[in-house]
Amino acid sequence: MTKILVIEDEAEVRDNIQEILELEDFETIVAPNGRIGVTLAKAQVPDLIICDVMMPELDGYGVLKELRQDAITATIPLIFLTAKAENSDLRQGMTLGADDYLTKPFTLAELRRAIATRLEKKAAVVLHYTNQIKNLGAKLEHLTYYDSLTNLPNQRLLRERFNQVKTQADSQKQQVAVLLISLDQFISLTSSLGHTDTEVLLKAVSQRLVNQIKPVEDDIDTVARLDMAQFAILLKPISCKQDAANVAQTILDVLSQPLLLSDREVFITSSIGIAFSLAAFSNLDNLISQAEVAMRHTKQGEGNGYEFYTTEMTADFDNRFTLAADLYHALEREEFLLFYQPQVDLKTGQIFSTEALVRWQHPERGLISPAEFIPLAEETGLIIPLGEWVLQTACAQAKAWQAAHSVPLQVAVNLSARQFSQPDLTKKIVRVLIETGLEPSLLNLELTESILIADVEAANKTLNELNAVGIQIAIDDFGIGYSSLSYLQKFSFHTLKIDQSFVRNITNNPGNIAITTAIIEMAHRLNLKVLAEGVETESELEFLYQHQCDAIQGYLFSPPKPAAELTRLLKAGQQLQQRK
Ligand code: C2E
Ligand code: MG
Ligand code: MG
Repeated sequence: MTKILVIEDEAEVRDNIQEILELEDFETIVAPNGRIGVTLAKAQVPDLIICDVMMPELDGYGVLKELRQDAITATIPLIFLTAKAENSDLRQGMTLGADDYLTKPFTLAELRRAIATRLEKKAAVVLHYTNQIKNLGAKLEHLTYYDSLTNLPNQRLLRERFNQVKTQADSQKQQVAVLLISLDQFISLTSSLGHTDTEVLLKAVSQRLVNQIKPVEDDIDTVARLDMAQFAILLKPISCKQDAANVAQTILDVLSQPLLLSDREVFITSSIGIAFSLAAFSNLDNLISQAEVAMRHTKQGEGNGYEFYTTEMTADFDNRFTLAADLYHALEREEFLLFYQPQVDLKTGQIFSTEALVRWQHPERGLISPAEFIPLAEETGLIIPLGEWVLQTACAQAKAWQAAHSVPLQVAVNLSARQFSQPDLTKKIVRVLIETGLEPSLLNLELTESILIADVEAANKTLNELNAVGIQIAIDDFGIGYSSLSYLQKFSFHTLKIDQSFVRNITNNPGNIAITTAIIEMAHRLNLKVLAEGVETESELEFLYQHQCDAIQGYLFSPPKPAAELTRLLKAGQQLQQRK
């Protein structure tokens, strides 16, 4: 029933109105003055208020003002009753937000019309708000279940779908599988792409995933976004491992196609972890965390692949976890040291450079190889301070050797993806060169091709800066990546280091012979110097020598050694035996 509050100090008028309203079937409450009126309005929240203007103490304007300041009563329509409808009164009432006026004495018809108009308007407003709330509700529902950037389902919706799949798989005695997909090198990618392009990239990746995984009515494969660059795919029930492997391979292929972002080509790869279990025993959180362990395991290797979860991985993962914590303190505890491995010129037989290779002297585990902790340092960001320490130490050492050595001796320093994508990289390196007094041409930075092709434009900009300063650049581990030498022509660099996997047993491996000779020939045509890594045997050396390789590095001549040992080796003037 519609409730109307009447605030009127004149008892006769008040009773009159009340009687009329009750006859019209309105629930009516009355207040003899403004103060009580405000209190009743707040307590009962009527649908309409009829209020006298002229009252002692708190008059109609005062009542209106107080009601408009309170959220609960602010929108209740209010009709003023006034004996003298003077213009100034009207204006004051209107600015305060009164909705209508009745001038006393008024007829029954006038009262009815005023009430009817107010209530109709109120109903329209209520309808408007109800609709708005409905729309908001739909939006809220969407936000609750979908990721706002990519419009993919989020973890909550994934959970609901999981329960559906689980029931379905259970009845068919099948398995439930989850694939966790993570983009490789995402952090360095975002720092070179910037915020907007990163968002475009994530949307494009999502679109590619959705195109691969089309949901069919009740037969649902679900693609969800879990985190910044992490996506999960919940497969419809599977009957064998291969079903999940096939999906993973398709996704790897699709995601590794180049992406065009603001007119530049960006190459991305991803790592996938897969976990599955019989429906009866499966739980989404377990599957996701197992898939994550498998995904990290893939990333730790070369990335760009998929692996199935195994229990051994968890032990491995825990191990890495403690290692990451130790790594955090290793720099301040001065547990890192550099070994240096000679690089030898095949024409002169002389050592012309040494490669600085970092080691970690772990208090309990002994000497740890960079292959184990560099990826961890990359992931945690510790590579930045660690890399600075390596550069500083290597340059200072090279300067010291140069002073004692008759010919110029270069030093080669490895840079990882995250280091290379720092916007102020050149500045930082120049500062180190100035501090140590090392000539820029004696510093050789080793980069892998995957670092360069992640963002061609940004890489070229940095390479040009480094070149302008006179710093040397080498492409490390060449041959194992995805790019051809003709593709690498886009970049300005000086040396190509052939990966040791091609050098290994070269004389007995026709494939490696073909690749290595082709690389050397083509590099020379492009005016590049070629260095072969990992030379362990005389026959490997002989082959490289016969095929005009310019330089070598490997256990045959010398393994990486502490600085003091290398100083001795340099002093003794050790060199490669000259061949005929
Ligand atoms: P890399 O730059 O390709 O270094 C060559 C690796 O081959 C070194 O492994 C070296 O010890 C090893 N090696 C040299 N000669 C031979 C040989 O004749 N036979 C065999 N089997 N191996 C040989 P290491 O020192 O374990 O370093 C592994 C990788 O870790 C390096 O590969 C490099 O990518 C990375 N790394 C090392 N130091 C640093 C660093 O200071 N910063 C960064 N970002 N990465 C580093
Ligand atoms: Mg290297
Ligand atoms: Mg290498």
